Amino acid sequence: MTPIDGKADTILSGGPIWCGLAQGTAEVLALRGGKVLAAGRQSDVEMLAGPGTRRIDLRGRLAIPAFHDAHMHLMTLGRRAKSLDISPGAVSSVADIVQLVGARAQSLAPGTWITGSGYDHDRMVGKRHPTRWDLDKVSPDHPVWLGRCCGHMGVANSAALKLAGISRDTPNPPGGVIVRENGEPTGLLQERAQEAMHEAMPAPTVEELVEAIELAGRRCLSYGIGSVMDACVGMIGGWSDVAAYEAAERAGRLPVRMTMAMGGGPAGIAEEAFAKGYLTGKGSGMLRVGPVKFFTDGSAGGCTAAMSKPYTNGERGVLIFSDRELDEMVGHYHRRGFQVAVHAIGDAAIDQTIRSFDKACADGSCSHRRHRIEHCGFIDERQMGEMQRLGLIPAPQPVFVRDFGDTYLNVVGEQRSAGCYPMARWQRRGLRPAMSSDTPVSDVNPFVNLYAALSRTTLGGEVLGAEERLTLTEALSAYTENGAYACGVDDRLGTLEPGKVADIAVLNGDPFQAGVADLRDVEADLTLLAGRVVFDRQGEVR
Ligand SMILES: [Zn+2]
Repeated sequence: MTPIDGKADTILSGGPIWCGLAQGTAEVLALRGGKVLAAGRQSDVEMLAGPGTRRIDLRGRLAIPAFHDAHMHLMTLGRRAKSLDISPGAVSSVADIVQLVGARAQSLAPGTWITGSGYDHDRMVGKRHPTRWDLDKVSPDHPVWLGRCCGHMGVANSAALKLAGISRDTPNPPGGVIVRENGEPTGLLQERAQEAMHEAMPAPTVEELVEAIELAGRRCLSYGIGSVMDACVGMIGGWSDVAAYEAAERAGRLPVRMTMAMGGGPAGIAEEAFAKGYLTGKGSGMLRVGPVKFFTDGSAGGCTAAMSKPYTNGERGVLIFSDRELDEMVGHYHRRGFQVAVHAIGDAAIDQTIRSFDKACADGSCSHRRHRIEHCGFIDERQMGEMQRLGLIPAPQPVFVRDFGDTYLNVVGEQRSAGCYPMARWQRRGLRPAMSSDTPVSDVNPFVNLYAALSRTTLGGEVLGAEERLTLTEALSAYTENGAYACGVDDRLGTLEPGKVADIAVLNGDPFQAGVADLRDVEADLTLLAGRVVFDRQGEVR
């Protein structure tokens, strides 16, 4: 209820309230009608309290604008919850995986698919992938598909290979490898060879996708995340992905604010989006259309990101499109009025992407369109200047330094690894890096990501480029207002200042007072969307 006397309906006080990079810290935050009414000192804001005002006592805890995860995969995160967890935390050997698959097979009718994801053979005993023969022992009658953590390969059992039409006579598809032993497929399918498996699996229903959205969205709220961008809508079920987000919103089952990046490229839904009038910026406060997204290269850890200098294996990675093809795609969607987000990780792919944006925006219209480079990991100083000139936004994942930094050291060496994901240079140059998780590639937990941005420490304990460490203030800015800027909603979200929407996270302590290492233990206690409590860990707000 909004009081009619001009008073606040909610007041937060009793702890620091970090409102934004330019706004700094306030003592009291007053809300009214879902928006920020005032932020400031006790003496200035307290007068807004009336008899009907709800009080939230911060008890020394830090309040911030709710996190804005500007590049992640919400539906995939939700669907993961239904598939087997075979990540390094859950299994340590092929035998463990076989046991989990066997147990699942016991509980499902024959013919039902069993999926799992997240295994990393490098971090298992024997350092080998499971084979179809390992899996067949416990699942002769269930098709099984297990994805590796990188998403670039996975293992099928014999029943799944049969459904996908893969036998010893099947040639490798373009851009993919069917790994074999004495001519017989082992079950391991790499890159585009995985597509046959995705086609063989039954498409999820819209209801199943809505369930995934709701589940993953609630998980986001539990971390203080209020807004996200799904970085490739259409990737799972084509237009059904959009239908599912819309159905979720209608049914009140979309827990977080969603910006949809429409998958572009040959298999994407961007053309359909355009034909149906789904242009960048259309939609509601909860669900809106963002950029068109496409890929120009792979991943650095998998040595498929396109680099100007070779990896230690002598390769330079893969550019997916020719210059002409990319120019055409970027120009096409730019002219149609879309924001454009291009996945580019290696410096050669980043260079190609910048050139395409430069051509598309020869009329000077780039900066207000907020075109983005997703990940943008291995960039040089000159390219950074070009991005600044064109108003291009990097959408990086500092948490990759933690998760994949040890691999980077192996595949590109120390010097190039030290300069990867240069958060400090971006932030200090004003490029507004939109810090994000790319979950489920990395952990959706923003505090793990913040820790990575402040420490630049790998899982193996190596520090990559200490000069690229952010301060906590810079990292919070990158994870809140920069995300809102990159998603084009900074007029309403991202900071806590009068008139903006009251999306707020209250943490379980004050990280400004604690050490960097303690960031990993931070949790969100409360999450508010438009002033409404949508997550309350301790049940503290009536
Ligand atoms: Zn992604």
